[in-house]
Amino acid sequence: MTNFPSQKRDWSELKSAMNEARSNDLIWNHERVFKPAYFAGDDVLEVARESYHMYINENALYSKTSYPSLYQYETELIDMLVDLLNGPDGSGGSFTSGGTESNLLAMKTAREWAKEHQPGSSTPEIVVPRTAHPSFEKGATVLEMKVVRLQESPNLTVDLAAMEKAINANTIMLVGSAPPYNYGHTDPITVIGAMAQQHGLWMHVDSCLGGFILPFAREFDSTIPEFDFLVPTVRSISVDLHKYAYAAKGISALMLRDKTHTDYNRTSFNDWPGGLYSTPNLSGSRSGGAIASAWAVINYLGREGYRNIVQDLIQLRQQFQAGINAIPGLRVVGNPQTFQFAFGSDQFDIYAVADAMEDLNWKIGRAREPHSIQLMINRSHHLTVTTFLSDLEKVSDRVAAGNIKVRDIQSVYAN
Ligand SMILES: *Cc1c(COP(=O)(O)O)cnc(C)c1O
Repeated sequence: MTNFPSQKRDWSELKSAMNEARSNDLIWNHERVFKPAYFAGDDVLEVARESYHMYINENALYSKTSYPSLYQYETELIDMLVDLLNGPDGSGGSFTSGGTESNLLAMKTAREWAKEHQPGSSTPEIVVPRTAHPSFEKGATVLEMKVVRLQESPNLTVDLAAMEKAINANTIMLVGSAPPYNYGHTDPITVIGAMAQQHGLWMHVDSCLGGFILPFAREFDSTIPEFDFLVPTVRSISVDLHKYAYAAKGISALMLRDKTHTDYNRTSFNDWPGGLYSTPNLSGSRSGGAIASAWAVINYLGREGYRNIVQDLIQLRQQFQAGINAIPGLRVVGNPQTFQFAFGSDQFDIYAVADAMEDLNWKIGRAREPHSIQLMINRSHHLTVTTFLSDLEKVSDRVAAGNIKVRDIQSVYAN
Protein backbone atom coordinates (compact mmCIF):
# COMPACT_ATOMS: atom_id res chain seq x y z
CA MET A 1 0.00 0.00 0.00
CA THR A 2 1.59 3.27 -1.12
CA ASN A 3 0.34 6.45 0.49
CA PHE A 4 -0.01 9.63 -1.47
CA PRO A 5 3.35 11.45 -1.01
CA SER A 6 3.07 13.99 1.80
CA GLN A 7 6.15 16.06 1.02
CA LYS A 8 8.08 17.39 -1.93
CA ARG A 9 11.14 15.56 -3.20
CA ASP A 10 13.99 16.64 -5.46
CA TRP A 11 13.76 15.64 -9.09
CA SER A 12 17.40 14.49 -9.08
CA GLU A 13 16.60 12.07 -6.27
CA LEU A 14 13.46 10.81 -8.05
CA LYS A 15 15.34 10.45 -11.29
CA SER A 16 17.92 8.17 -9.72
CA ALA A 17 15.14 6.20 -8.03
CA MET A 18 13.49 5.72 -11.42
CA ASN A 19 16.73 4.73 -13.10
CA GLU A 20 17.27 2.21 -10.34
CA ALA A 21 13.68 0.93 -10.72
CA ARG A 22 14.02 0.42 -14.46
CA SER A 23 17.34 -1.39 -14.24
CA ASN A 24 15.53 -4.74 -14.45
CA ASP A 25 13.32 -3.74 -17.38
CA LEU A 26 13.85 -5.12 -20.83
CA ILE A 27 15.95 -2.82 -22.99
CA TRP A 28 13.40 -2.66 -25.78
CA ASN A 29 15.77 -2.47 -28.75
CA HIS A 30 18.58 -4.58 -27.30
CA GLU A 31 20.13 -7.04 -29.74
CA ARG A 32 19.25 -10.07 -27.57
CA VAL A 33 15.57 -9.07 -27.39
CA PHE A 34 13.17 -10.47 -30.00
CA LYS A 35 9.98 -9.19 -28.42
CA PRO A 36 7.99 -6.59 -30.36
CA ALA A 37 10.19 -3.52 -30.91
CA TYR A 38 10.24 -1.18 -33.87
CA PHE A 39 13.79 0.02 -34.33
CA ALA A 40 15.26 1.27 -37.59
CA GLY A 41 18.51 2.74 -36.29
CA ASP A 42 19.65 5.48 -33.90
CA ASP A 43 19.22 8.23 -36.50
CA VAL A 44 15.53 7.40 -37.06
CA LEU A 45 14.99 7.15 -33.31
CA GLU A 46 16.50 10.58 -32.77
CA VAL A 47 14.12 12.13 -35.33
CA ALA A 48 11.12 10.38 -33.72
CA ARG A 49 12.10 11.48 -30.22
CA GLU A 50 13.12 15.06 -30.89
CA SER A 51 10.00 15.80 -32.91
CA TYR A 52 7.86 14.18 -30.19
CA HIS A 53 9.48 16.36 -27.54
CA MET A 54 8.88 19.50 -29.62
CA TYR A 55 5.12 18.92 -29.31
CA ILE A 56 4.88 16.96 -26.07
CA ASN A 57 2.61 19.56 -24.44
CA GLU A 58 0.54 20.69 -27.43
CA ASN A 59 -2.87 19.09 -27.33
CA ALA A 60 -3.89 17.69 -30.70
CA LEU A 61 -7.53 18.01 -29.62
CA TYR A 62 -7.10 21.71 -30.36
CA SER A 63 -5.00 21.42 -33.50
CA LYS A 64 -7.61 22.97 -35.77
CA THR A 65 -8.22 25.98 -33.54
CA SER A 66 -4.81 26.58 -31.95
CA TYR A 67 -1.99 24.70 -33.63
CA PRO A 68 -2.08 25.16 -37.39
CA SER A 69 1.24 23.36 -37.71
CA LEU A 70 -0.19 20.19 -36.12
CA TYR A 71 -3.30 20.48 -38.25
CA GLN A 72 -1.08 20.75 -41.32
CA TYR A 73 0.89 17.64 -40.31
CA GLU A 74 -2.35 15.69 -39.83
CA THR A 75 -3.74 16.76 -43.17
CA GLU A 76 -0.51 16.01 -45.01
CA LEU A 77 -0.11 12.65 -43.26
CA ILE A 78 -3.59 11.52 -44.31
CA ASP A 79 -2.79 12.47 -47.91
CA MET A 80 0.48 10.56 -47.72
CA LEU A 81 -1.30 7.47 -46.37
CA VAL A 82 -3.88 7.66 -49.15
CA ASP A 83 -0.98 7.75 -51.62
CA LEU A 84 0.90 4.88 -49.92
CA LEU A 85 -2.19 2.65 -49.78
CA ASN A 86 -3.35 3.50 -53.32
CA GLY A 87 -6.55 5.19 -52.21
CA PRO A 88 -8.66 6.50 -55.10
CA ASP A 89 -10.00 10.07 -55.28
CA GLY A 90 -12.36 10.66 -52.39
CA SER A 91 -10.57 8.43 -49.89
CA GLY A 92 -9.30 9.71 -46.55
CA GLY A 93 -9.06 8.78 -42.94
CA SER A 94 -8.45 9.88 -39.37
CA PHE A 95 -5.94 9.29 -36.62
CA THR A 96 -6.33 7.20 -33.51
CA SER A 97 -4.24 6.29 -30.50
CA GLY A 98 -3.27 2.86 -31.83
CA GLY A 99 -4.28 -0.21 -33.79
CA THR A 100 -6.86 -1.29 -31.24
CA GLU A 101 -8.75 1.98 -31.59
CA SER A 102 -8.43 1.87 -35.40
CA ASN A 103 -9.95 -1.61 -35.56
CA LEU A 104 -12.68 -0.60 -33.12
CA LEU A 105 -13.53 2.42 -35.27
CA ALA A 106 -13.60 0.23 -38.37
CA MET A 107 -16.24 -1.89 -36.62
CA LYS A 108 -18.18 1.21 -35.67
CA THR A 109 -18.00 2.58 -39.21
CA ALA A 110 -19.27 -0.73 -40.59
CA ARG A 111 -22.03 -0.85 -37.98
CA GLU A 112 -23.30 2.64 -38.83
CA TRP A 113 -22.96 1.96 -42.56
CA ALA A 114 -24.91 -1.28 -42.19
CA LYS A 115 -27.75 0.51 -40.41
CA GLU A 116 -28.39 2.24 -43.71
CA HIS A 117 -27.92 -0.86 -45.84
CA GLN A 118 -29.23 -3.61 -43.63
CA PRO A 119 -31.70 -2.14 -41.16
CA GLY A 120 -32.92 -4.60 -38.58
CA SER A 121 -29.89 -6.68 -37.69
CA SER A 122 -30.11 -6.90 -33.91
CA THR A 123 -26.61 -7.67 -32.72
CA PRO A 124 -24.28 -6.92 -35.63
CA GLU A 125 -21.70 -9.63 -36.25
CA ILE A 126 -18.31 -9.65 -37.89
CA VAL A 127 -16.50 -12.73 -39.17
CA VAL A 128 -12.74 -12.81 -38.63
CA PRO A 129 -10.07 -15.39 -39.44
CA ARG A 130 -8.61 -17.47 -36.62
CA THR A 131 -5.49 -15.29 -36.61
CA ALA A 132 -7.15 -11.85 -36.46
CA HIS A 133 -6.02 -9.57 -33.64
CA PRO A 134 -7.86 -9.71 -30.27
CA SER A 135 -8.67 -6.00 -30.56
CA PHE A 136 -11.78 -7.03 -32.50
CA GLU A 137 -13.08 -8.76 -29.37
CA LYS A 138 -12.38 -5.59 -27.41
CA GLY A 139 -14.28 -3.57 -30.00
CA ALA A 140 -17.20 -5.98 -29.82
CA THR A 141 -17.44 -5.50 -26.04
CA VAL A 142 -17.54 -1.74 -26.35
CA LEU A 143 -19.87 -1.64 -29.35
CA GLU A 144 -22.15 -4.49 -28.27
CA MET A 145 -21.32 -6.47 -31.38
CA LYS A 146 -20.37 -10.10 -31.85
CA VAL A 147 -17.16 -11.53 -33.27
CA VAL A 148 -17.44 -14.87 -35.05
CA ARG A 149 -13.85 -16.08 -34.98
CA LEU A 150 -13.09 -19.05 -37.21
CA GLN A 151 -11.95 -22.07 -35.25
CA GLU A 152 -9.44 -23.44 -37.70
CA SER A 153 -6.58 -22.05 -39.67
CA PRO A 154 -5.77 -24.86 -42.10
CA ASN A 155 -2.13 -24.60 -43.20
CA LEU A 156 -2.12 -21.21 -41.48
CA THR A 157 -4.44 -19.72 -44.08
CA VAL A 158 -8.03 -18.52 -43.78
CA ASP A 159 -10.69 -21.23 -43.74
CA LEU A 160 -12.69 -19.62 -46.55
CA ALA A 161 -15.43 -22.24 -46.58
CA ALA A 162 -16.01 -21.76 -42.85
CA MET A 163 -15.97 -18.01 -43.31
CA GLU A 164 -18.71 -18.17 -45.90
CA LYS A 165 -20.71 -20.55 -43.70
CA ALA A 166 -20.43 -18.17 -40.75
CA ILE A 167 -22.16 -15.35 -42.62
CA ASN A 168 -25.78 -14.85 -41.56
CA ALA A 169 -28.42 -12.12 -41.55
CA ASN A 170 -26.67 -10.26 -38.74
CA THR A 171 -23.25 -10.23 -40.38
CA ILE A 172 -22.07 -6.78 -41.42
CA MET A 173 -18.31 -7.08 -41.92
CA LEU A 174 -15.51 -9.45 -42.93
CA VAL A 175 -11.90 -8.97 -41.90
CA GLY A 176 -8.59 -9.94 -43.47
CA SER A 177 -5.18 -9.13 -42.01
CA ALA A 178 -2.22 -7.90 -44.00
CA PRO A 179 -0.60 -9.71 -42.36
CA PRO A 180 -1.89 -11.21 -39.12
CA TYR A 181 0.45 -10.66 -36.20
CA ASN A 182 1.15 -14.34 -35.71
CA TYR A 183 3.11 -15.57 -38.72
CA GLY A 184 3.45 -12.58 -41.01
CA HIS A 185 1.67 -14.26 -43.90
CA THR A 186 -0.94 -12.02 -45.56
CA ASP A 187 -4.55 -13.24 -45.82
CA PRO A 188 -6.12 -13.54 -49.32
CA ILE A 189 -7.64 -10.06 -49.23
CA THR A 190 -8.98 -10.18 -52.79
CA VAL A 191 -10.85 -13.44 -52.13
CA ILE A 192 -12.29 -12.32 -48.78
CA GLY A 193 -13.21 -8.99 -50.40
CA ALA A 194 -15.11 -10.74 -53.17
CA MET A 195 -17.02 -12.74 -50.56
CA ALA A 196 -17.87 -9.51 -48.70
CA GLN A 197 -19.04 -7.92 -51.92
CA GLN A 198 -21.19 -10.88 -52.83
CA HIS A 199 -22.98 -10.75 -49.46
CA GLY A 200 -23.18 -6.96 -49.32
CA LEU A 201 -20.77 -6.69 -46.37
CA TRP A 202 -18.11 -4.22 -45.30
CA MET A 203 -14.55 -5.38 -46.01
CA HIS A 204 -11.91 -4.27 -43.51
CA VAL A 205 -8.18 -4.93 -43.80
CA ASP A 206 -6.14 -4.94 -40.60
CA SER A 207 -2.78 -3.72 -41.82
CA CYS A 208 -1.68 -2.36 -38.46
CA LEU A 209 1.48 -4.40 -38.67
CA GLY A 210 2.14 -4.52 -42.39
CA GLY A 211 0.94 -1.13 -43.64
CA PHE A 212 4.45 0.29 -43.75
CA ILE A 213 6.16 -2.94 -44.81
CA LEU A 214 4.11 -4.56 -47.57
CA PRO A 215 4.02 -1.57 -49.97
CA PHE A 216 7.83 -1.77 -50.09
CA ALA A 217 8.27 -5.51 -49.60
CA ARG A 218 6.10 -6.27 -52.64
CA GLU A 219 8.99 -5.04 -54.75
CA PHE A 220 11.18 -7.82 -53.40
CA ASP A 221 8.68 -10.58 -52.68
CA SER A 222 6.26 -11.68 -55.39
CA THR A 223 4.28 -13.85 -52.95
CA ILE A 224 2.74 -10.76 -51.31
CA PRO A 225 -0.75 -10.27 -52.73
CA GLU A 226 -2.57 -7.00 -53.27
CA PHE A 227 -3.90 -5.92 -49.91
CA ASP A 228 -4.74 -2.22 -50.03
CA PHE A 229 -7.24 0.00 -51.87
CA LEU A 230 -6.07 -1.51 -55.17
CA VAL A 231 -8.45 -4.30 -54.18
CA PRO A 232 -11.71 -2.59 -55.17
CA THR A 233 -13.83 -4.28 -52.48
CA VAL A 234 -11.70 -2.99 -49.58
CA ARG A 235 -13.54 -0.24 -47.72
CA SER A 236 -11.26 0.39 -44.75
CA ILE A 237 -7.66 -0.24 -43.69
CA SER A 238 -6.12 0.18 -40.25
CA VAL A 239 -2.44 1.06 -40.24
CA ASP A 240 -0.19 1.75 -37.25
CA LEU A 241 2.32 4.54 -37.52
CA HIS A 242 3.82 3.65 -34.17
CA LYS A 243 4.95 0.28 -35.52
CA TYR A 244 6.83 0.10 -38.84
CA ALA A 245 6.50 3.78 -39.69
CA TYR A 246 8.85 4.14 -36.67
CA ALA A 247 6.94 7.06 -35.09
CA ALA A 248 6.76 7.41 -31.29
CA LYS A 249 3.95 5.50 -29.56
CA GLY A 250 0.36 6.70 -29.74
CA ILE A 251 -0.52 6.96 -33.41
CA SER A 252 -2.42 4.79 -35.87
CA ALA A 253 -4.89 5.59 -38.65
CA LEU A 254 -8.18 4.27 -39.95
CA MET A 255 -8.19 4.83 -43.70
CA LEU A 256 -11.45 4.79 -45.64
CA ARG A 257 -12.15 4.41 -49.35
CA ASP A 258 -14.93 6.97 -48.95
CA LYS A 259 -13.78 9.76 -46.68
CA THR A 260 -17.33 10.86 -45.92
CA HIS A 261 -17.57 7.63 -43.89
CA THR A 262 -15.29 9.22 -41.27
CA ASP A 263 -18.49 11.02 -40.20
CA TYR A 264 -19.70 7.72 -38.74
CA ASN A 265 -16.99 8.12 -36.11
CA ARG A 266 -17.42 11.79 -35.44
CA THR A 267 -19.06 12.85 -32.21
CA SER A 268 -20.39 16.38 -32.36
CA PHE A 269 -22.15 17.90 -29.39
CA ASN A 270 -23.26 21.49 -29.48
CA ASP A 271 -25.40 21.84 -26.38
CA TRP A 272 -22.72 22.32 -23.78
CA PRO A 273 -21.92 25.41 -21.72
CA GLY A 274 -18.33 25.17 -22.98
CA GLY A 275 -19.29 25.32 -26.65
CA LEU A 276 -19.06 22.88 -29.57
CA TYR A 277 -17.27 19.60 -28.96
CA SER A 278 -16.48 17.61 -32.08
CA THR A 279 -13.93 14.81 -32.48
CA PRO A 280 -13.32 12.22 -35.20
CA ASN A 281 -12.27 9.35 -32.92
CA LEU A 282 -12.52 8.08 -29.33
CA SER A 283 -9.87 10.28 -27.74
CA GLY A 284 -10.30 13.73 -26.31
CA SER A 285 -6.99 15.23 -25.35
CA ARG A 286 -4.04 13.59 -27.02
CA SER A 287 -0.42 14.53 -27.38
CA GLY A 288 0.66 16.44 -30.46
CA GLY A 289 3.95 14.60 -30.06
CA ALA A 290 2.84 11.40 -31.76
CA ILE A 291 1.58 13.28 -34.83
CA ALA A 292 4.68 15.44 -35.04
CA SER A 293 6.82 12.36 -34.67
CA ALA A 294 5.03 10.53 -37.50
CA TRP A 295 5.28 13.56 -39.79
CA ALA A 296 8.98 14.01 -39.06
CA VAL A 297 10.00 10.36 -39.48
CA ILE A 298 8.01 9.85 -42.68
CA ASN A 299 9.56 12.95 -44.22
CA TYR A 300 12.97 11.94 -42.93
CA LEU A 301 12.83 8.49 -44.50
CA GLY A 302 10.59 8.88 -47.54
CA ARG A 303 9.94 5.96 -49.86
CA GLU A 304 13.66 5.63 -50.39
CA GLY A 305 14.39 5.21 -46.68
CA TYR A 306 11.57 2.75 -46.01
CA ARG A 307 12.50 0.70 -49.07
CA ASN A 308 16.11 0.41 -47.88
CA ILE A 309 15.09 -0.61 -44.37
CA VAL A 310 12.59 -3.16 -45.69
CA GLN A 311 15.13 -4.64 -48.10
CA ASP A 312 17.71 -4.85 -45.32
CA LEU A 313 15.29 -6.54 -42.91
CA ILE A 314 14.08 -9.01 -45.55
CA GLN A 315 17.69 -10.08 -46.06
CA LEU A 316 18.19 -10.37 -42.31
CA ARG A 317 15.01 -12.43 -41.99
CA GLN A 318 16.18 -14.73 -44.77
CA GLN A 319 19.44 -15.22 -42.91
CA PHE A 320 17.48 -16.23 -39.79
CA GLN A 321 15.12 -18.46 -41.81
CA ALA A 322 17.92 -20.26 -43.64
CA GLY A 323 19.83 -20.78 -40.39
CA ILE A 324 16.77 -22.11 -38.56
CA ASN A 325 15.70 -24.42 -41.37
CA ALA A 326 19.24 -25.83 -41.51
CA ILE A 327 19.03 -27.00 -37.87
CA PRO A 328 17.80 -30.63 -37.71
CA GLY A 329 14.25 -30.80 -36.34
CA LEU A 330 13.44 -27.09 -36.71
CA ARG A 331 11.35 -25.38 -39.36
CA VAL A 332 10.00 -21.90 -39.93
CA VAL A 333 6.22 -21.74 -39.75
CA GLY A 334 4.56 -20.77 -43.04
CA ASN A 335 5.85 -18.12 -45.38
CA PRO A 336 6.63 -14.94 -43.44
CA GLN A 337 6.42 -11.74 -45.48
CA THR A 338 7.18 -9.27 -42.72
CA PHE A 339 9.60 -9.18 -39.80
CA GLN A 340 7.92 -11.31 -37.18
CA PHE A 341 7.85 -15.03 -37.68
CA ALA A 342 7.68 -18.27 -35.79
CA PHE A 343 9.48 -21.59 -35.88
CA GLY A 344 8.64 -24.93 -34.36
CA SER A 345 9.48 -28.60 -34.42
CA ASP A 346 7.70 -31.84 -35.30
CA GLN A 347 10.36 -33.82 -33.48
CA PHE A 348 10.78 -32.27 -30.05
CA ASP A 349 9.23 -29.78 -27.65
CA ILE A 350 9.95 -26.30 -28.95
CA TYR A 351 9.07 -24.81 -25.57
CA ALA A 352 12.02 -26.71 -24.08
CA VAL A 353 14.18 -24.98 -26.69
CA ALA A 354 12.60 -21.67 -25.67
CA ASP A 355 13.37 -22.33 -21.99
CA ALA A 356 17.01 -23.10 -22.72
CA MET A 357 17.40 -20.08 -25.00
CA GLU A 358 15.97 -17.90 -22.24
CA ASP A 359 18.52 -19.39 -19.84
CA LEU A 360 21.14 -18.13 -22.28
CA ASN A 361 19.61 -14.68 -21.91
CA TRP A 362 17.77 -14.45 -25.21
CA LYS A 363 14.37 -12.75 -24.89
CA ILE A 364 11.97 -14.49 -27.25
CA GLY A 365 8.24 -14.91 -27.74
CA ARG A 366 6.10 -18.04 -27.76
CA ALA A 367 3.04 -18.77 -29.85
CA ARG A 368 0.43 -21.46 -29.34
CA GLU A 369 -0.86 -22.64 -32.72
CA PRO A 370 1.34 -24.36 -33.61
CA HIS A 371 3.65 -24.46 -30.57
CA SER A 372 6.47 -22.22 -31.70
CA ILE A 373 9.08 -19.66 -30.81
CA GLN A 374 8.26 -16.23 -32.13
CA LEU A 375 10.86 -13.70 -33.19
CA MET A 376 10.36 -10.12 -34.18
CA ILE A 377 13.50 -8.86 -35.82
CA ASN A 378 14.84 -5.34 -36.22
CA ARG A 379 18.09 -3.75 -37.25
CA SER A 380 19.78 -4.47 -33.89
CA HIS A 381 19.81 -8.14 -34.74
CA HIS A 382 22.50 -7.82 -37.38
CA LEU A 383 24.81 -7.88 -34.35
CA THR A 384 23.51 -11.18 -32.98
CA VAL A 385 22.14 -13.30 -35.82
CA THR A 386 25.21 -15.56 -35.91
CA THR A 387 25.42 -16.16 -32.15
CA PHE A 388 21.67 -16.64 -31.93
CA LEU A 389 21.75 -19.35 -34.59
CA SER A 390 24.71 -21.14 -33.07
CA ASP A 391 23.11 -21.09 -29.59
CA LEU A 392 19.90 -22.35 -31.15
CA GLU A 393 21.67 -25.22 -32.83
CA LYS A 394 23.40 -26.33 -29.61
CA VAL A 395 20.22 -26.05 -27.56
CA SER A 396 18.16 -27.95 -30.15
CA ASP A 397 20.72 -30.77 -30.16
CA ARG A 398 20.44 -31.08 -26.40
CA VAL A 399 16.63 -31.00 -26.46
CA ALA A 400 16.56 -33.60 -29.25
CA ALA A 401 18.86 -35.79 -27.15
CA GLY A 402 16.47 -35.52 -24.21
CA ASN A 403 18.88 -33.51 -22.06
CA ILE A 404 16.57 -30.56 -21.41
CA LYS A 405 13.15 -30.81 -19.83
CA VAL A 406 10.42 -28.29 -20.49
CA ARG A 407 9.29 -25.85 -17.82
CA ASP A 408 5.69 -24.73 -17.69
CA ILE A 409 5.45 -21.28 -19.20
CA GLN A 410 2.32 -20.01 -20.94
CA SER A 411 2.23 -18.25 -24.24
CA VAL A 412 1.29 -14.64 -23.49
CA TYR A 413 0.92 -11.86 -26.04
CA ALA A 414 -0.10 -9.15 -23.60
CA ASN A 415 -1.26 -9.34 -20.02
C1 LIG B 1 -0.43 -4.40 -33.14
C2 LIG B 1 -1.59 -4.87 -33.89
C3 LIG B 1 -2.89 -4.44 -33.55
C4 LIG B 1 -3.19 -3.59 -32.34
O1 LIG B 1 -2.46 -2.41 -32.30
P1 LIG B 1 -2.17 -1.63 -30.93
O2 LIG B 1 -1.41 -0.45 -31.45
O3 LIG B 1 -1.37 -2.55 -30.04
O4 LIG B 1 -3.45 -1.24 -30.31
C5 LIG B 1 -3.93 -4.87 -34.35
N1 LIG B 1 -3.72 -5.69 -35.39
C6 LIG B 1 -2.48 -6.13 -35.74
C7 LIG B 1 -2.33 -7.03 -36.92
C8 LIG B 1 -1.39 -5.74 -34.98
O5 LIG B 1 -0.17 -6.19 -35.30
